[in-house]
Amino acid sequence: MGNTSPAQKVVSIFYHYKQVPSSLWNTFIPNTMKSEIKANPNNNPDKLHRMIVSHPPILEGKVKSVYEVEGEADKVLIEFHDRVTAGNGAKEDYIKDKGATCCLISALLFEKLASHGIKSHYIDAPSLTRMLCKKLTILPVEVICRNIAAGSVVKTTTLSEGTLFNPPIVEFFLKDDSKNDPLLTPDRVRLMGVDTKPLIEQALEINNVLQTLFTLCGIDLVDFKLEFGYDAHGDLFLADELSPDNMRLWKKGSRERFDKDLFRKDEGDIVTAYKYILKLLRQFV
Ligand code: C5P
Repeated sequence: MGNTSPAQKVVSIFYHYKQVPSSLWNTFIPNTMKSEIKANPNNNPDKLHRMIVSHPPILEGKVKSVYEVEGEADKVLIEFHDRVTAGNGAKEDYIKDKGATCCLISALLFEKLASHGIKSHYIDAPSLTRMLCKKLTILPVEVICRNIAAGSVVKTTTLSEGTLFNPPIVEFFLKDDSKNDPLLTPDRVRLMGVDTKPLIEQALEINNVLQTLFTLCGIDLVDFKLEFGYDAHGDLFLADELSPDNMRLWKKGSRERFDKDLFRKDEGDIVTAYKYILKLLRQFV
């Protein structure tokens, strides 16, 4: 970096480490330097520009916020927070590195799915806690795929925890916290104007890829939740995140958990468990 200006150095840091949070940018970079960086086209490839533009979020979820990307109406930035919630927000905590760990696992799994031809909203991860994604109209339906009985399927049926589902089952829940996300019948989903066929097909395809991957890691993929959305051309894409916040992961052949149930049941530190999953996945993706 011999003859580079201070502004160039900042740009360089952003590029090489891809992890400078926007708070750091806002707090420590003088305005004159920000203008210099933004004004210089050499400093301003899309990735950097997207990182430094800040808006109020267009959507605030329980653990993520969604931001518009300046000048790119078809994309959004999704920021993962360190917040964790359970019971529809009744229980909450903030745990350092939780957001980054979920973001990294999601990016890795979306990339893995893409290598199997499964389209998702994921484009890139320009920082540890942010994903650049296609902007979609999200369907008001949560799609759950189960390989092993746990959670609500045990609570609301006569099935015992640990029962194997072969073939796996796909269920639909309403995506509406104010109604407590009730279970939907396929007929109700159809009446809501949502075609269940592509959702079931994609959920089973995703399950095949993820189950194979987690088996290599010595982990049973018990169940997981998916969300889908349509882009402006009417094409269907997998959306949201794919992390142990949204799936149950048990050590193979046991019920030792590495997922959000640790938090739901006060059984241990989720970030340690999530980081362990990330480390395992990195060996096989
Ligand atoms: O609660 P239930 O057993 O139906 O959850 C099935 C799977 O879907 C679990 O992995 C759970 O973490 C996930 N899920 C989710 N978001 C919801 C409901 C369930 O990620 N709103």
